[in-house]
Amino acid sequence: MLDTNLEILNQLLPSLKKNGIQNFIEGERTAAISGDTFDVHSPVDSEFITKVALSGKEDVDQAANVAQKAFESWKKMPHQERRNILYAIAAKIEEHAENIAVLESYDTGQPIRFMKKAAIRGAANFRYFADKVIDAPNGLSTPDTHHINYTIRQPIGPIGVITPWNTPFMLSTWKIAPALASGCTVVHKPAEFSPITADYLVKLAHEAGLPKGVWNVIHGFGETAGKSLTEHEAIKAVAFIGETTTGSLIMKQGATTLKRVHLELGGQNPIIVFDDANLDRALDTAVFMKYSLNGERCTSSSRLLLQKKVYDEFVKKLSQRVKNIKVGNPLDPVTEVGPMIHPTHQEKVLRYGAIGEEDGATLVVGGGTPDQLKKGCYVNPTLFIDGAQNMRIAQEEVFGPFLTVIPFETEEEAITIANSVRYGLTAYIWTKDVGRAHRVAQEVEAGMVWVNSQNVRHLPAPFGGVKYSGIGRDGGEYSFDFYMETKNISVALGDHLIPQLGKNQ
Ligand code: NAD
Repeated sequence: MLDTNLEILNQLLPSLKKNGIQNFIEGERTAAISGDTFDVHSPVDSEFITKVALSGKEDVDQAANVAQKAFESWKKMPHQERRNILYAIAAKIEEHAENIAVLESYDTGQPIRFMKKAAIRGAANFRYFADKVIDAPNGLSTPDTHHINYTIRQPIGPIGVITPWNTPFMLSTWKIAPALASGCTVVHKPAEFSPITADYLVKLAHEAGLPKGVWNVIHGFGETAGKSLTEHEAIKAVAFIGETTTGSLIMKQGATTLKRVHLELGGQNPIIVFDDANLDRALDTAVFMKYSLNGERCTSSSRLLLQKKVYDEFVKKLSQRVKNIKVGNPLDPVTEVGPMIHPTHQEKVLRYGAIGEEDGATLVVGGGTPDQLKKGCYVNPTLFIDGAQNMRIAQEEVFGPFLTVIPFETEEEAITIANSVRYGLTAYIWTKDVGRAHRVAQEVEAGMVWVNSQNVRHLPAPFGGVKYSGIGRDGGEYSFDFYMETKNISVALGDHLIPQLGKNQ
């Protein structure tokens, strides 16, 4: 199976190397106006993959103006027609799922075992939001004595979509599908570390019949191309996924043009395991939610809060499981953890090994890099126990295969520890006590809580964080609230009283 994936990669790489990746504006591949490019290397083996257009303000200007022009016709396209184009994009993604998975895996280091599903989930996002196209403009009827009031939803305008490097394909579809379903047009700026599948995806969408100018992609760095996009007058809203500090910058940058912003940011999420839980299933969840997707996952459970009665036994089993995790080439289906996205991120994750020891936690598994993998950005899956809430490894987002275990005695203590971080994206609660499950779920500061479960995404349910983890919600109706404006229309039913100023003079 590794051979099959390498074969696919070897078929796709030569044209990527030869042609590079350009911007995609008004249905055409377009070099950056400056002619500048930057190189992308694979985290798997540090090999050069391709040259990518390095866009500046003038490229963003061109793409945003195109998106503004295309908005006039896209928003008026009959709903059935728009819906059918989104269905066709979903079908194209499914047809190309294998190529997408291999490219994503080689570009990001994410194990192929998860990337196959990510491509299929991308198609599911398009299909789900296509199903909703016809109802999206629906609003409320709020009758009054002398007026009938009703609301409709209308697309807000061109959207700037800015995405990160972790699972970039799936996350792009998560933003772009509802934007297009709403009738908005898009300028997408993918992360500079992982631009490849964004380019693949926009081309598939045009093969599926998307009109030119509706979806444009500009490549480049956040501080330049990304910043210009958030400042552009024609862009009405910014859908952003990335770090908390970048989210804060985006709010500032967009303030002058009164941008609507939706921010999906970082996390330092707890999994709380009480002593009455199904401990085998809780163990599966703790390992999966931290070490899947290389731990480069916003919803990962980075702090395991363990009740003292079961602490020693649970830690023993957990250590064994983490030791067993298979690190290797992400294109190999047996691999469970692949390389970190980039040498700078590899260094960051490794640094937290030293920080954990300085903090006084106990390293029981991992730290450092695997002996057998000298090329590429690999790190060993790492487990610290005897952590405490004030430690940096329990406060900061490491964003790697790195778990910190913290003991607790009582329910109140577990809640205090869980809430003692600036983030609030997800929480996972394990207990058989129904009352306690509800109590803790209500007290814990997070946008999403799973009880006796790993993260299982349900597309109509709201997705998003509180505190420094974000502003706004995605999913179902929540997505349409962001990409559309609600307009109230009030119609008089008869000759109601209108004050007659100036009549008697
Ligand atoms: P990042 O913030 O460094 O970059 C994200 C994107 O923002 C990139 O495309 C980058 O080029 C762009 N950017 C950077 N500076 C910018 C600026 N000043 N103006 C406009 N755009 C700018 O994030 P990252 O390192 O690529 O991704 C990892 C982070 O994303 C983690 O913190 C993770 O938790 C978060 N994330 C959150 C969610 C969620 O749903 N909450 C999902 C996935 C990832």
